[in-house]
Amino acid sequence: MLKQIKGLHHVTSIASGAQENNAFFTKSLGLRRVKKTVNFDNPKLYHLYYGNEAGSPGTVITYFPNPNAKARQEGTGEVSVTRFSVPKGSILWWEQYFTESGITHLPRETTFGQAQLPFLGPDGENLALVEANEARAPWRTPSVPEGHAIRGFHSVELRLKDTGPTKDLLRFMGYETAGQEGNRTRLVCPAVSTANVIDLMEDPEAPAAQQGAGSVHHIAFSVETREDQMEVQKTLTEAGWAVTSVKDRDYFWAIYFRSPEGILFEVATNEPGFARDEDAAHLGEELRLPKQHEHLREELLENYLEPITEP
Ligand code: ZN
Repeated sequence: MLKQIKGLHHVTSIASGAQENNAFFTKSLGLRRVKKTVNFDNPKLYHLYYGNEAGSPGTVITYFPNPNAKARQEGTGEVSVTRFSVPKGSILWWEQYFTESGITHLPRETTFGQAQLPFLGPDGENLALVEANEARAPWRTPSVPEGHAIRGFHSVELRLKDTGPTKDLLRFMGYETAGQEGNRTRLVCPAVSTANVIDLMEDPEAPAAQQGAGSVHHIAFSVETREDQMEVQKTLTEAGWAVTSVKDRDYFWAIYFRSPEGILFEVATNEPGFARDEDAAHLGEELRLPKQHEHLREELLENYLEPITEP
């Protein structure tokens, strides 16, 4: 069993419009854009990162905006909800704020004893706020009062035909079963106290999901160091998982493999972080390009990357 995994590192999803996506996560939700760059494997697409002040692991939601992204089909074998954590007593404020701002939200609910407010992102993606005990500091912005602001991830929920094999994998990765409510199993990573929850929702009759705008592309688990990552890579490989080689993603190192129902899992290092190539006081303000794509800057800006007007 692995001991190096420290909960979620980031969640990466697909958007249609960069402008709408940026405005929603910065202005409406009050996150900081901590990096504006491009997809390593397809530099014609942006890669936008939003999180807390430093973009700490466990706070960062990232998007590949793609104007040609097709419509998604919800179903099994995907991340069905991405949930952010807010301080206790905040959800009523958010409910009113969403209503006033024209952001679609669903009725409040209680899951595993925690108040939860599901809402939709600009591509109809399923997001939620969960009230939790929080010591993490938020990014301070005029949009959202500090006492109610998002602290980072609470959890993700995976919708699966059969939760058994994924539960076994997560337990191998260091998660422990923490509860069961109806067809939902909660797993918690005891090594950390935040961004440490994964819910598995069993739905044997639903069709397989098809990825498109609003889908989660992958979730990344956190490890402290490259040495820890090598241990994870070795142990998973020995257990029969098809794990990739280590990729340098500039702000972290990454390895990838597919979970039993095909969800892309990444294991990313907490080092070196987003201040690697720009001043921590100005994270995310300028377009940063990976070295190998720097020569394409003018072409990308002229022909592919839509201008993002800051809200
Ligand atoms: Zn990733």
